[in-house]
Amino acid sequence: MDIYSGHINKLIEQLSRLPGVGAKSAQRLAFHIINMPKEEVAGLSAAITEAKANVHYCKECFTLTDEDVCPICSNVNRDHKTIMVVEQTRDMAAYEKTGKYEGVYHVLHGAISPMLGIGPSDIKLKELMKRLEGDVNEVIIATNSSLEGETTAMYISRLIKPTGIKVTRIASGVPVGGDLEYIDEVTLLRALDGRTEL
Ligand code: ZN
Repeated sequence: MDIYSGHINKLIEQLSRLPGVGAKSAQRLAFHIINMPKEEVAGLSAAITEAKANVHYCKECFTLTDEDVCPICSNVNRDHKTIMVVEQTRDMAAYEKTGKYEGVYHVLHGAISPMLGIGPSDIKLKELMKRLEGDVNEVIIATNSSLEGETTAMYISRLIKPTGIKVTRIASGVPVGGDLEYIDEVTLLRALDGRTEL
């Protein structure tokens, strides 16, 4: 049944493990890569290896960065007493694109999902609570409006309440089940402006 050579099969197999890449797309990508000039393929594989070797979590907000502390956390002009909690680095990027948010972030790297067996200790929640021991005025919970996002928001707000720090949730202008990264900037800003205290 092996139509392709072992090397092509291996490439297809690796590519099909990527999220959103089905068997057909994996084949298409594999053949595209094989037909690319040698230098381009070298550039692609070097970019992957170097990103993996040099990108790590920011010590403060846990976003992905090349530095110890990311450019947002090290910016003294940002409001370090307002922390927006997001699920992924790409959600943070979505809010950064609006150019209107002046606080800092905290990236959870996931959301609580009993169904998938992801609990509070599987996301960067301890790390958030540790940050709140410092001088913080407000925590804005901007997790997605999916079931997992809402569960996580509820859990975090309950955890923070006793500390007396103000906890808010972005408005539900963000469609239910909507991933923050796909939502336009106007909607994101409306959701931020319309946030309500939990
Ligand atoms: Zn940071």
